[in-house]
Amino acid sequence: MLLLRGVPGRLRQVVVRDRCYLIPRADGHVLVGSTMEEAGFDSGTTEEAREDLRAFATGLMPELGNLAVERHWAGLRPGSPEGVPFVGPVPGVAGLYLNTGHFRNGFATGPASARLVTDLLLGRAPSLDPAPYAPPAAAPGPDRAALVLDSV
Ligand SMILES: Cc1cc2nc3c(=O)[nH]c(=O)nc-3n(C[C@H](O)[C@H](O)[C@H](O)COP(=O)(O)OP(=O)(O)OC[C@H]3O[C@@H](n4cnc5c(N)ncnc54)[C@H](O)[C@@H]3O)c2cc1C
Repeated sequence: MLLLRGVPGRLRQVVVRDRCYLIPRADGHVLVGSTMEEAGFDSGTTEEAREDLRAFATGLMPELGNLAVERHWAGLRPGSPEGVPFVGPVPGVAGLYLNTGHFRNGFATGPASARLVTDLLLGRAPSLDPAPYAPPAAAPGPDRAALVLDSV
């Protein structure tokens, strides 16, 4: 992500093209996103990503090239191997529940998955069928919780 130091009113709406977007903030700053790469747990930034995002921004709105970069950072999008989030109890590890693997959609799916995991924790009738989201069984071993989390 890049945050450009702008002035209020120059960009008035979100602009999306392909996988990138410009988001105006109330203080005039412009958020430019985003890149996607398989990086494990590395949330470091690269010069290449910074330049790609800047080129995208100035390609859409040349005057953005005059703005200073206020911040440049990377966020992780925790994903699951099949692209389906894990929500629910981990078989074989009493008391361990997961709600993760939402990848690019965690804001959008958060309310529903939080509701589902809460229903399961409290033993209520679940708000939707939990079967597709059931976490995999824990691997056998002395530290099973750690092994399950590693596999996620
Ligand atoms: C650039 C970007 C743009 C995105 N845009 C969208 C979007 O437009 N719409 C959308 O729906 N989703 C979007 N997402 C995805 C969304 O951010 C994620 O799906 C969501 O944040 C996942 O939520 P989570 O709680 O599973 O994981 P996270 O939000 O990653 O939360 C995990 C938490 O665990 C903490 N943690 C990690 N390790 C430890 C540890 N060892 N001990 C204690 N705490 C720990 C972390 O600090 C963090 O607070 C975007 C993600 C990125 C990076």
